[in-house]
Amino acid sequence: MHPLGFSDMNPSIKQLFPFLEDSKLGSPFLIAGPCSVETPEQLDSTLSQLAANGISLIRAGVWKPRTRPNGFEGLGSLALPWLQEAKKKYGVKVAVEVATAYHVEEALKAEMDVLWIGARSTVNPFTVTEIAESLRGVDIPVLVKNPINPDLGLWLGAIERLEQVGLRRIGAIHRGFSNFRDTTHRNSPMWELPIEFRTLRPELVLINDPSHISGKRALVKGIAQHALDLNFDGLMIESHCHPDQAWTDAAQQLSPADLNQLMHELVSRNGDLKPKDGLNPLDEIRKQIDEVDRALLEVLSRRMHLVENIGTYKKENNVAAFQLERWQEILHSRPDWAKAFQLNPEVVAELFRIIHQESIRKQTEWIAK
Ligand code: PEP
Ligand code: MN
Repeated sequence: MHPLGFSDMNPSIKQLFPFLEDSKLGSPFLIAGPCSVETPEQLDSTLSQLAANGISLIRAGVWKPRTRPNGFEGLGSLALPWLQEAKKKYGVKVAVEVATAYHVEEALKAEMDVLWIGARSTVNPFTVTEIAESLRGVDIPVLVKNPINPDLGLWLGAIERLEQVGLRRIGAIHRGFSNFRDTTHRNSPMWELPIEFRTLRPELVLINDPSHISGKRALVKGIAQHALDLNFDGLMIESHCHPDQAWTDAAQQLSPADLNQLMHELVSRNGDLKPKDGLNPLDEIRKQIDEVDRALLEVLSRRMHLVENIGTYKKENNVAAFQLERWQEILHSRPDWAKAFQLNPEVVAELFRIIHQESIRKQTEWIAK
């Protein structure tokens, strides 16, 4: 078992996609394919290369939700027979995005193997309900991308809506969150959200989409490796035979050859914690961490006692608990001190925000007594 309790054999991938051959699951598990289907030639050229590289589950968008109008919005049902043909020709399975009951109906008629719900749909409970209702009584794997905004409830809620109509093969895709400040990523990864997701739904397959997080080819590998280090179950990566000429998401797609190289460069860190002489090799270090955490709590408790003393003084002298200048001084100095200890100033600022909040709460309670 993995240290966090996740099995390292990806058994849930097997349950999610029972039609994929064991030998083709790969390590890490990869779903790859073009952002959009554009022409029969583009599809064939891309898929022939991906299939030759051992990829057994292809992604291909035919209905493309674009944030702004006048871009290419997909070929729709026209492209479905091409995908059907490719399935036969290359022995691959195919995943498409659906956003309406009509898309679902069309995709099922065309024998698509996997459906995914895009970020702009997950955000809307009406849309998710419509998709879910159209899938009542159907046994097909559905992958749910996180909503565009960092709202874990919407992501979990979309999955629950699918579960309510009886779907049992459900997985999640982390594709990052819209932002206006993060200039590095197209969509901020906000890794704490998928980690929280994993904590709440540990039994669900969680796949990372480094393409839509990074928005740029050069960043895809770093994001993918980060995801593997966090023990994601697999990756979904966009690949196009001529990425620069792609009709959608040109900057982030990888040629099949580049994707193949990237997959060889990634390191899967899913090793077991092998006991040495009956002991878990991490036990000793963890014992030390336990001691340090205890010491941290003692120091914190000392700090809170001092706060009570301040509270007493403020009460006797009729001084308000919250003093803006003091708070500003703390917020500036502590992150600055953090640097000398090689600590992340942002994390330290956050920590002191919490500590100060508690300190103010305690003082107000004290003063009111
Ligand atoms: C896509 O997968 O091409 C897509 C539109 O993704 P998202 O829903 O994550 O934006
Ligand atoms: Mn895309």
